[in-house]
Amino acid sequence: MTSSQISLLPYNTLGLNQSCTELLTITSEAELKKQLTKLSTKPSPWFVLGGGSNLVLCEDFNGVVLKMELKGIVHTEDDRFHYLSIAAGEDWHQLVEYCLEHEIDGLENLALIPGTVGAAPIQNIGAYGVEFCELCDWVEFMDATTQLVTRLTAEECQFGYRDSIFKQELKGKVVITQVGFKLSKNWQPVLNYGPLQQLEHNTVTSRDIFDLVCQVRQQKLPDPKMLGNVGSFFKNPIVSVERFQSLHASFPDIAAYPHNDDMKLAAGWLIDKAGLKGYQLGQAAVHNNQALVLVNYGQAKGEDIITLARYIIEQIKQIFGVELEPEPRLIGQHGEITING
Ligand SMILES: Cc1cc2nc3c(=O)[nH]c(=O)nc-3n(C[C@H](O)[C@H](O)[C@H](O)COP(=O)(O)OP(=O)(O)OC[C@H]3O[C@@H](n4cnc5c(N)ncnc54)[C@H](O)[C@@H]3O)c2cc1C
Repeated sequence: MTSSQISLLPYNTLGLNQSCTELLTITSEAELKKQLTKLSTKPSPWFVLGGGSNLVLCEDFNGVVLKMELKGIVHTEDDRFHYLSIAAGEDWHQLVEYCLEHEIDGLENLALIPGTVGAAPIQNIGAYGVEFCELCDWVEFMDATTQLVTRLTAEECQFGYRDSIFKQELKGKVVITQVGFKLSKNWQPVLNYGPLQQLEHNTVTSRDIFDLVCQVRQQKLPDPKMLGNVGSFFKNPIVSVERFQSLHASFPDIAAYPHNDDMKLAAGWLIDKAGLKGYQLGQAAVHNNQALVLVNYGQAKGEDIITLARYIIEQIKQIFGVELEPEPRLIGQHGEITING
């Protein structure tokens, strides 16, 4: 690393010591506009950094990193709904806590997901039976080329499973600046997922759900401050019912859930069944208890994580004929890359 390079080690939860050439902190839309204008007149690779909890810095990045620090929470309401307008740099979990404190229900199942509010729409974050898209009213972004601000309705965001327009058509072209939420005052608890089923529907409060989600997550998932990770490393693959039936015939205990007209396979089960739980390649490893989580024992480089991820993908393909796809975004020397380079 030369003196003109800046380490991104403090800014990514995998704890990868990769660098960039410039790191700019964005605290206002005016500043964002200024920097995007500069980047469009004097082009250089760039990407937006939130909490760094959903990206793998595969190599040193030869460009500018825009670190989102836009702050602000605006809350209004009418008879039926709470409306929140949240700046992209706000911390997601702190927003969940803010809602609980202000008796705004709906976000509690998504407690303890690391990262910023502005990143939440990108992969339509989800956990414990709730997805971001169910709470979202609109998303506002600045176009990197024109610097114009546009607001999309939730429907226009084309949310899907860990997917949205921001990972497709608008990928790398916009910076999300504000997120709008519309939360019904006629709150209904979502208790259909795993350990939440033990809660009593008629008496449960959003605080009870929040507390249980936090407790289970703290038991299950390694804390990135202690052991570098990005949560689930692979998406759960979606296969047709026919494909699932043929897999089920060979692997009767296969873990899977209905997903629209298809079946979603539990990627963690596939990795565990392949005997890869705890598998280690240098300082990169599959977590000992959570097969879906790849960890950095301290000194792993981005390329070590990618080599391990490729090995897992290859093994799962060979054993089950199923293609695993990484969930985090992979950042190479000049910008986003795919697992194949
Ligand atoms: C321990 C752990 C548990 C997790 N659990 C879950 C979970 O339960 N469910 C889940 O869905 N995810 C989970 N994640 C993944 C992650 O927390 C989420 O995807 C989160 O939304 C990422 O936010 P971030 O600010 O850290 O994004 P970053 O990692 O900083 O960025 C992710 C991508 O979004 C882009 N980006 C970020 N902000 C903006 C913006 N304002 N405008 C445009 N592009 C932007 C970046 O360029 C990058 O491509 C977990 C991660 C960890 C480490």
